[in-house]
Amino acid sequence: MKIATKCFINGKWVEANSGKTFPIYNPANMEVIGHLPFMGIEETKVAISTAVEALKSWKSTTGKERAKILRKLFELMLRDKEKLAQLLTTEQGKSITEARNEIDYAANFVEWFAEEAKRIYGDIVPSIKNGQRLFTIKQPIGVVAAITPWNFPIAMITRKIAPALAAGCTVVLKPSEETPFSALAIAELLVEAGLPSGVLNIICGNASEIGDALTSSHEVRMLTFTGSTKVGKMLMGKCAGTVKKLALELGGNSPFIVFEDADLDKAVAGLVASKLRGGGQSCTSANRVYLQESISEQFIEKLKLEFSKIQIGNGLNEETNLGPLINKAATDKISHLIADALAKGSKEVFSNNNIDHLSQQSLCYVSPKIIVNKAENLEIEQTEIFGPIVSVFTFKTEEEVLKRANNTNYGLASYFYTENKDRIWRVSESLEYGLVGINDIALASEMASFGGIKESGIGREGGKHGISEFLEEKFMVIS
Ligand code: ADP
Repeated sequence: MKIATKCFINGKWVEANSGKTFPIYNPANMEVIGHLPFMGIEETKVAISTAVEALKSWKSTTGKERAKILRKLFELMLRDKEKLAQLLTTEQGKSITEARNEIDYAANFVEWFAEEAKRIYGDIVPSIKNGQRLFTIKQPIGVVAAITPWNFPIAMITRKIAPALAAGCTVVLKPSEETPFSALAIAELLVEAGLPSGVLNIICGNASEIGDALTSSHEVRMLTFTGSTKVGKMLMGKCAGTVKKLALELGGNSPFIVFEDADLDKAVAGLVASKLRGGGQSCTSANRVYLQESISEQFIEKLKLEFSKIQIGNGLNEETNLGPLINKAATDKISHLIADALAKGSKEVFSNNNIDHLSQQSLCYVSPKIIVNKAENLEIEQTEIFGPIVSVFTFKTEEEVLKRANNTNYGLASYFYTENKDRIWRVSESLEYGLVGINDIALASEMASFGGIKESGIGREGGKHGISEFLEEKFMVIS
């Protein structure tokens, strides 16, 4: 895949006004992959006015016309799957197998919303008096600002822009500065798919300047953001001034509960998969593992065996199933959380230490570890670890573990394993989370709505409601 050297505004590849650029690194070896324009307020304003102009005609296209372009994008993504996956791994670090999976996952959103574009229905509502008819119609909300993270550099983009474009909105997208090439590769495919100029614009550079320009604009009617709770809250505050619609996918602190009546092999497999998905750098990654006392030792022994099989390395090697983390700050944060836990009595019971040779290439590698904790309310229990570290706590009763699982301001993903059908209903209804995995960790797909409660977010992405986030309902009465 050709690597972009410019940003994308009004269908053209453009430099920053200042001519300044910034480097993007491969976390596997810290080599510079390329440079992109370092944009700020001025370029963002141009991107917004371009999107405003493009909206005039885009919002009047039929769902079928928009569907055709999105369907074409879906096909092009599958045509270029291998090239996109290689690019994704090069800038993000995840294993090539996972990158391929992400392209499929990302393309599925495009296919799904291409279909949904044709199903934007209104209602005919019974009237309270004769001679009067009541209707609702759905219309695109307008210009949408999208800000996306680095952990799923393509899927987090298609999950936002596919429904936005399907709804008839135009978009200004700021991808993460850690992984902007994947976003720009999608723009190139959209051009090939026939998307009119100005309907999607992609800028990157000075995140806070771009964020300020997007949030303060009266013409931007919605912000869709995926990232940390800290930045999400700050952007939410900034959107108050123009009363923008918000869709926020923020941080999580997922409990992963294994009851004594669980199928332990299934639970171990689920936990390993959750920890290897993006190297644990996912907001749905299992963060706090709660094991019922009677099975904890057996579970940990099985887990050690599986963790010892992990192949760490450059994600482009086919045998790798754990690549580097995104940057050194990510590994420093993990070292801090582990040191804090160990100082408070936790024990490291497993470490896959084969990373010395890798550390010479990059400081972004982290060896998978299992930490068994004794104390409660440790930093490692309250913070998103975002890495291949399993942090274990034990519990005695269902009541106790539910209390601990819900004792957080986050509410995105939760998981539990049990073979008891009564417990399945009791526990899933008691967990205060937007997503519950019961003997399963596959919580995200284009077919179902995804999102959190509490400080994990507002709104839902995907599923039959996904497109509604980008639509306004208008009520009409005719006499
Ligand atoms: P993470 O910890 O996953 O990197 P962030 O919330 O820091 O999460 O980043 C998610 C997205 O938010 C990225 O595109 C990032 O550049 C962007 N971002 C970070 N700070 C700001 C800001 N002040 N204004 C607008 N966007 C921001």
